[in-house]
Amino acid sequence: MRGRIMWWGLLLATGVFVLAYLYFTLLPGPVEPAARQYFTTAEIAAGRKYAQANRLIFLASFAAEVGVVAWLVFGPAAARLGHGAMRLAQGRPVVAAFLFFLALWALLRAVNLPFSLYSSYYLEHRWGFSTESLASWWADYFKGAVLDLVLSGAGVLLFFWTTGRWPQTWWLYAGTFLAVWLVVANYLWPVLVAPLFNRFTPATDPEIVAMVKRLAERADLSVDKVLVMDASRRTTKANAYFAGLGRTKRIVLYDTLLRDYPRDEVEAVVAHEMAHWKLGHIRQGTIYGILANFALWLLLFLFLRFSLDLPRRGPYPPEVWALVVLFFLVASFLGNPVASGISRRMEAAADSYAVKLTSDPAAAVRLQVDLARRDLADVSPPPFIEWFSYTHPSTLRRIEAIRAVPLKESRP
Ligand SMILES: [Zn+2]
Repeated sequence: MRGRIMWWGLLLATGVFVLAYLYFTLLPGPVEPAARQYFTTAEIAAGRKYAQANRLIFLASFAAEVGVVAWLVFGPAAARLGHGAMRLAQGRPVVAAFLFFLALWALLRAVNLPFSLYSSYYLEHRWGFSTESLASWWADYFKGAVLDLVLSGAGVLLFFWTTGRWPQTWWLYAGTFLAVWLVVANYLWPVLVAPLFNRFTPATDPEIVAMVKRLAERADLSVDKVLVMDASRRTTKANAYFAGLGRTKRIVLYDTLLRDYPRDEVEAVVAHEMAHWKLGHIRQGTIYGILANFALWLLLFLFLRFSLDLPRRGPYPPEVWALVVLFFLVASFLGNPVASGISRRMEAAADSYAVKLTSDPAAAVRLQVDLARRDLADVSPPPFIEWFSYTHPSTLRRIEAIRAVPLKESRP
């Protein structure tokens, strides 16, 4: 393969970040003294230990996946598998590509399965978070796998068809298809996909309904959907999120939050999600996603152009799919600091807007402390790890920022 140097460069950069991440996972350094204002030594230590286990699994599963795909790509295996697929498909290139995809998909699923089972089942049980039986874990796993297979299978067919139809400009078409898909997916996810895994019921508790109404009026929003999700069937952890676009916009509260947290802290959560709504964060995130998607397809196109003798006409050979997978695995890992940086900025904006909505910074701070304590957050993570992979600012940063929000009036 020509252009090996570019791929090795990409893998070298990945290796450097993996080693740095591993270093700070194993030797996280001292905890900021401010942490002791809010947490006991035992709480801080438990949060660190739990985070360490999760970080190690994340690294190990990523390294295993990249290792397997790189072994395929840089050895003879991918080309052999490609030829086999071509023979089976009797020379029909898109069918052959699909067969190749199926084989690689199954292989990566098999590589990833032990890590996923360990982290989302065994580890969660060991730390006392999971309320799920093994049977229901497997049911979720199969549902997720089927969904993934159908969607990525359709994506593969479209990719190979596009590379055959527009050999020089397919990246533009691929980018356009994915951009449309990102919008559709964000729109449909909460109404089609989320209900496959959980039940959602409108919040009817009069206290919550009144709270939502009050906050929505202050934010000058018409929030018509606040749903409660049966999270307690899987976990004791509490959370909430904002999802959807246009008419599918909704705020989702975990039932564990309503069960275990005082009302003023629930209010802080609702205000935070409403802030995402008000500030248009899903829309913004979708736009960033679309821009990144075009940049990545162009980069992939250049990588493939330089490294392979590609046919002038007709779709790419099936084994190119292994390179595509390697590229996206590594690019999304290396893109982590950018994506999490953007996310952290939105989260910080939502936190400060929320405090202005509730005028109750004390409850917002207590919420951060309670969430970190109950869900075992690493309250003072190594700065490198926070920079690399935290989608939310760490607990101490959030508390500091909430405290720093200037308030015009105090709560009546
Ligand atoms: Zn948020």
